[in-house]
Amino acid sequence: MKWVIIVIVLFIIYDVIPTYFYKLFYKLKRPKNGNNLYLTFDDGPSIYTNHILDLLKKYDIKCTFFVVGDFALKNKDLIERMYHEGHLIGIHSLKHKNAWFMGFFRTFKDFRDSTRVLKDLKFYRPPWGNINLFSLYFVSKYKLKLVFWNVMAEDWRANISENEIKTRIINRVRGGDIICLHDGRGKNNAPYRTLKALEKALPILLERGYNFRRLDSYDEK
Ligand SMILES: [Zn+2]
Repeated sequence: MKWVIIVIVLFIIYDVIPTYFYKLFYKLKRPKNGNNLYLTFDDGPSIYTNHILDLLKKYDIKCTFFVVGDFALKNKDLIERMYHEGHLIGIHSLKHKNAWFMGFFRTFKDFRDSTRVLKDLKFYRPPWGNINLFSLYFVSKYKLKLVFWNVMAEDWRANISENEIKTRIINRVRGGDIICLHDGRGKNNAPYRTLKALEKALPILLERGYNFRRLDSYDEK
C-alpha cells in the first residue's frame, strides 16, 4: 500500500503537475483579442495531407504542421510541399509516444532523434499535450518552444461527424486562438472528416474577418 502511494505521488510530481501547470499557463497567456487564428495540424504527414494542403492553397492560408518524426521520414515529398507552399513545420515527437510513461533516456532519445529529422525546428507540441519533468529540460536544451492549443475539436475521434467538427471549430474559436486539428492517425479515417469539416468552416471564418497565421507570428501579449 505504501509503495502504491509513493508511485502515485511520484507520478503526480513527474507527469501530472508539469503537464497541467503548462496547459493552464498556456491558456492564461493567450492573446485576448485580434482577428488572427493559428491553424495547426498534428500527427501527419499521411495520405490525407495532400488534400489538406490543396484546401489551404485554395484560400491562401498558411499554417503550422506538427509532424511525427517517423512519418516525416516516410513522406519527404509532403514535407517538401509544406515548406514550398509557405507553411511552418514543428515537431510532434519521433513515434507519438506518451511522455507520461517515459523516463530520462527515452525522453532524451525522443528529443535527440526527432530533432534530427528536420532542420531549424523551433516549435514542439507533445503528443496528447503530455510532458514529464525531463521534457521541460530537453525543450530548453534543444531551443524549442513548447506549444499547446486553445481550441480542440476532438476531430480524431472515431464517432464524430464532419458536421460536428465544423460546428465545434466555428463555435469555439475566438481571435488569437491556436486551433489543434489532425492530418494523420485518428480512427475510422478521421482526417478525412477533418478535411470535409474544414472545407465548410474555412470560408465561414474568413467571412467573419479572421486571418490565418503561422505560429512564428504568434502574439503572446
Ligand atoms: Zn498527436
